Amino acid sequence: MTLPSEKALVPFVSVDNMMRLVHSIGIEEMLKDLASYVEDDFKRWERFDKTPRVASHSDVGVIELMPTSDGEAYGFKYVNGHPKNTKEGLQTVTAFGLLADVYTGYPVLLTEMTMLTALRTAATSAMAAKYLAPKGSDTMAMIGNGAQSEFQTLAMKAICGLKSVRLYDTDAAATEKCARNLAELGLEVVQCRSPEEAIEGAQILTTCTADKQNAKILTDNMVGAGVHINAIGGDCPGKTELAAGILERSDVFVEFPPQTRIEGEIQQMPEDFAVTELWQVITGEKQGRRDSKQITLFDSVGFAIEDFSALRYIRDRIKGTEFFIDLDMLADPDDPRDLFGMLQRSKV
Ligand code: NAD
Repeated sequence: MTLPSEKALVPFVSVDNMMRLVHSIGIEEMLKDLASYVEDDFKRWERFDKTPRVASHSDVGVIELMPTSDGEAYGFKYVNGHPKNTKEGLQTVTAFGLLADVYTGYPVLLTEMTMLTALRTAATSAMAAKYLAPKGSDTMAMIGNGAQSEFQTLAMKAICGLKSVRLYDTDAAATEKCARNLAELGLEVVQCRSPEEAIEGAQILTTCTADKQNAKILTDNMVGAGVHINAIGGDCPGKTELAAGILERSDVFVEFPPQTRIEGEIQQMPEDFAVTELWQVITGEKQGRRDSKQITLFDSVGFAIEDFSALRYIRDRIKGTEFFIDLDMLADPDDPRDLFGMLQRSKV
């Protein structure tokens, strides 16, 4: 509970401050912390308000609002997805988010979430892989070497003990960039010329490409037994990365089925296609990986609870630091009914 203060100021974390915060904590440490916040919230899944995100589609992309609440705090993220943007020198995905106190309805945090989305998506992928990937997985194919790729790789290193990453992108410059960024971070980094080469010897296959179409980044014949697929890029209607045959041979784990059936890889499958909710694996209610031959597939689309966890984490971590400024974004007159008087008194 937050009681109204004299002036209701809202902590704001800019992109600059977010980057300083990440470095002050250490990126791998922060990925581990975020994964544990996400894991804690997945364990209390049933306490949350849940709704598929509210999406506004256009020919070139999507703008989405992602709200949720645990009854004490309320959070939402504004996020876009515009695959054509990089050609114009802009990001495919940008985001900001807000956390509020349910008791007063007052915001308690406003923050950039472009960096934070990359971090929370990677932390969630690695948390899922911790439960689903074959024991001893140490090699990952990273297909799609754009903005998310280094984050995905580092989270798998920090949380699952990844030792080697095999990169592939249709744009060799993206692979070059990713390899450069990952050099000297304690991983073997292999640049590959085809997706077939990238998956050689990998136990974890991550697809993280951006294209608004039903693509087949992995075809059925490319996926053998005993791997974990971390499918990140298929996250809106008409945008998928995997051949349907792979889904038929896999055990599919999802965040929130009503959203994933619209946006995820399983949009290609019949409405009653069997999936397991990841939170139930984490609470121990459902089985994750059964045996070493099984193909597990995390059909990730990104769900509001992961953003809520990230917002909670930032709220907790900025306390007592210099990594935020206070914003005067709430009109909060001393006499709550005298909003007009407050306006008049401000006249110069
Ligand atoms: P990005 O545009 O920075 O990178 C995408 C990369 O994919 C580019 O380098 C592009 O050249 C490459 N690519 C496109 N088609 C390819 C193909 N057929 N084979 C190999 N590479 C190909 O985008 P990003 O920010 O890294 O995001 C990637 C995808 O992940 C987007 O679709 C985004 O919507 C999605 N995403 C999902 C989540 C989630 O929670 N699941 C979160 C963030 C982003």
